Amino acid sequence: MLDILKTRAELTRFLNERRSGISSIGLVPTMGALHEGHLSLVTRSAEENDLTVCSIFVNPTQFNDPSDLARYPRPVESDIRKLTKTGCDLLFMPDAEEIYPEEESWHMELGELERVMEGKFRPGHYQGVTQVVKKLFDLVAPDRAYFGQKDYQQFLVIGELVRQFSIPLELVCCPTQREADGLAMSSRNIHLSPEERKEAVLLSKALFLIRSLANEMSPAEARDKGLELLGSSPLIQVEYLEIAHADTLRPVTDWNEASRVIALVAVRIGQTRLIDNLFIKH
Ligand code: AMP
Repeated sequence: MLDILKTRAELTRFLNERRSGISSIGLVPTMGALHEGHLSLVTRSAEENDLTVCSIFVNPTQFNDPSDLARYPRPVESDIRKLTKTGCDLLFMPDAEEIYPEEESWHMELGELERVMEGKFRPGHYQGVTQVVKKLFDLVAPDRAYFGQKDYQQFLVIGELVRQFSIPLELVCCPTQREADGLAMSSRNIHLSPEERKEAVLLSKALFLIRSLANEMSPAEARDKGLELLGSSPLIQVEYLEIAHADTLRPVTDWNEASRVIALVAVRIGQTRLIDNLFIKH
């Protein structure tokens, strides 16, 4: 059975009553409009923990574009049905006043992570992410928290949050779930027109192309081939395509420079911004 709670007080009471009888709690933070990507995190948490908490909160402080926030999908009833079927125990669905009774002023030093790629193109975004995730960690005190590789830079940022505050939990990075043609699942995909949806496949195609070329050419040359493929669509505007050290996100000039190398991409297609990434060496 899925319990649904909207206030911090109810959540704290619920967890206090349950905590002593169980050995672990898994937390899956989301912004809702759930798809198979989100549900894969819930399934993994349900397999690994006695109690799985999913949060749905469209966090205003992480949106640097007000129109993106305004049109973010909020299909609550269908999300509840999906969570019920997937073995989630508790849905925490607060409103903004519940999470931010007063203005948030604290700031985390995230170093390079906040200056490259998503950090650069979405100023302030990761401050909003760390603010809300820290609150969820404090409230739920989970043993494990589940995030998707789809937002790989976010996973590194949360790693920094956990490290800097010495939060006693295990972070789990779950593989990106894709549509049959390779497009990474995303709540924002529903905004794509049929033509845009067709071209959106080029994101993953460019990443898989780079991976297939890694034995034949340098990272810079492989990146150029990826950019060429993305450039073949007049609908796509590239924000970045980078080949980077997977632990630091510093660009690599030679495949042997790092033991784990990842390619990351962000584009705009019409009004919609899409991101994806793929490990080239793992
Ligand atoms: P969001 O609702 O977009 O904030 O995403 C909530 C969580 O689901 C984040 O940890 C995302 O990385 C993860 N997620 C989103 N899309 C996918 C996907 N296609 N595959 C796996 N995880 C995903």
